[in-house]
Amino acid sequence: MRVLHVITLVVAMLLAPSCGGGTGAGGTGEGSATSRIDIDAPALSSELRQSIERAANSALTRAEKSMQHEVGRRVLVRCRARVDDYHGDDRVAFRSWTVAYARPERAELVLALDRLRPDPPDDLESVLVHEMVHVVLGDLERESVDDTRAVPRWLHEGLAQVAAGSRYLGGGDEALWYRAKTDQLMSLSSLTSGFPNDDELLRVAYAQSSSFLSWLDARVGRDRILAALRSWLHGDAINLDAALASLDPEWSFTLAEGLWAEDLKTSSLLALLRNSCFNVLILLALPLLAIILYKRFRREQRAGARLDRWEADEERRRLARIAIARQRLEADRLDIEFVDSDPFTDVETAQDDV
Ligand SMILES: [Zn+2]
Repeated sequence: MRVLHVITLVVAMLLAPSCGGGTGAGGTGEGSATSRIDIDAPALSSELRQSIERAANSALTRAEKSMQHEVGRRVLVRCRARVDDYHGDDRVAFRSWTVAYARPERAELVLALDRLRPDPPDDLESVLVHEMVHVVLGDLERESVDDTRAVPRWLHEGLAQVAAGSRYLGGGDEALWYRAKTDQLMSLSSLTSGFPNDDELLRVAYAQSSSFLSWLDARVGRDRILAALRSWLHGDAINLDAALASLDPEWSFTLAEGLWAEDLKTSSLLALLRNSCFNVLILLALPLLAIILYKRFRREQRAGARLDRWEADEERRRLARIAIARQRLEADRLDIEFVDSDPFTDVETAQDDV
């Protein structure tokens, strides 16, 4: 039942990128003749395998364009309906949130369909592009002059997220802004060989990598970032800083890291307000709603009090009128009694009137 649901979901998602994805990959190879993907998906239907193959080819082309490097070998995409269909090392590599992972050194991508979601970053297109960037960078690493030169993890993950257009694990700028303010950002050098195991720190590591690469893209430019990486891998510079500085003396990755952190401190909250407009509006709306309700409540309270006062005044006025009426009645009664006891009064009065 669940597998059927997963398959239905995946088929629906696959139709979207293949029909209207518009990656502009220049007449993407429709059939397997031009495919550069090998599919390992024994339990899936041939139709589903073909759809995944098309999506993977499109993602590979997009990743290559983004990284300005063409992979010189075929890419293997392994695909199972469920995570639990994998065993041994393949299964262990899946953490609770993992949808897919890449083995760049083997040009291999491992995907579990039941982890896919309709929206980024866990939709099929975003996941495939993200992992394909790792594959492309892994291929680039084969140009390295020695085994000690590998693409730093922060650069791997930063480029993968920026190319896919979505931030992995949903790490937002608000966490980075707070960490920048409190000097708790992780240094890029600590994220070079690997990412932390702790869930929260891992989320921050992904968010930092993505944020920093977006910042670098805008200021240094993708061309120079990749040229510096290639130059260092080729052995033309002693480190990445020197490689970037040789292209533009005003820049180094370390300098950029410091400037990016400063920018985060001062302007990231504004970016957060812009990027999370809806969430912020909701957050702002809650206290606003509370204020409106409180004011209305107070207004109702005041109106109720005014009503009570008016009713009390009205009651007093009513009692006063009754008292006056009683006094008049009493006076009239006394007059009548007096007239009854002095029979000439009426005659005198009548004479006066005449
Ligand atoms: Zn990744």
